[in-house]
Amino acid sequence: MSVKPEGYCHICGKYGKLSFEHIPPQKALNNNKALVYTGENAIKRYKGENAKYKNQQQGMGGFTLCDNCNNNTGTWYAPVYNRIAKEVAKSLITDKKLEHGDVVQFTLNKFPALSFVKQVITMFCSLLPLSEVKKLGFDEFLLQKESNNIDKSLFDLRMYLTPFNVGQLMVGPTSIVNKTENGFETIIACDLGAYPFGFILNLTPEIEFEYGTSLMNLFDAVYDKEYSMNWPLMYLERTNDIIPIPLLFKPLPNVDE
Ligand SMILES: [Zn+2]
Repeated sequence: MSVKPEGYCHICGKYGKLSFEHIPPQKALNNNKALVYTGENAIKRYKGENAKYKNQQQGMGGFTLCDNCNNNTGTWYAPVYNRIAKEVAKSLITDKKLEHGDVVQFTLNKFPALSFVKQVITMFCSLLPLSEVKKLGFDEFLLQKESNNIDKSLFDLRMYLTPFNVGQLMVGPTSIVNKTENGFETIIACDLGAYPFGFILNLTPEIEFEYGTSLMNLFDAVYDKEYSMNWPLMYLERTNDIIPIPLLFKPLPNVDE
């Protein structure tokens, strides 16, 4: 018998008992045991050092949301995400073997776009500090199910396809330093990888991240309205399949060749 931990809900900010939020939702292929390495432990594991991990019997996730927010997002947004994740996973099984950098076109005819992207934002709220959730306006955006009120200049959200056997990845804001012609630039981003999808939330949108398909136009969709969608999604493999490192993908094949 376990006692629910107490803390601040990562969406509404209220203090109280927290419930387990599955990331991704349990019905979206997330009900197996998961070994989850986070933050610096993921990097230690990658280097072959001793690293702590959480053995999550319930699947991947954390005690991050109050009952109310868990129930509301689970009712309003999660079912759409689950359906699309299963559809895409099913078509990937029957498709030819994919190579890193391949782009797969998905045609979705009844796609409730706003619910889908709100579920993605719900998952990221569990990974972000509450102060960041509030700064980005994700709290109000999620608490009002029909809201389109979001400042899209503050972030960039991208999606990709991830291999079946890749380790799951769930990290809060991480700094990645890139060398450029003029010096260095630092991307701060959250990376969430869970078959069949991966998502990148870039908190430094002035620096464009070259991988993935933008989801930014989904934020303008009408709640409960279904759209036809032609979705080009890129299949990305990481430099390490067992312990994926945030934002570390194999180099893309040169398209000019
Ligand atoms: Zn809450």
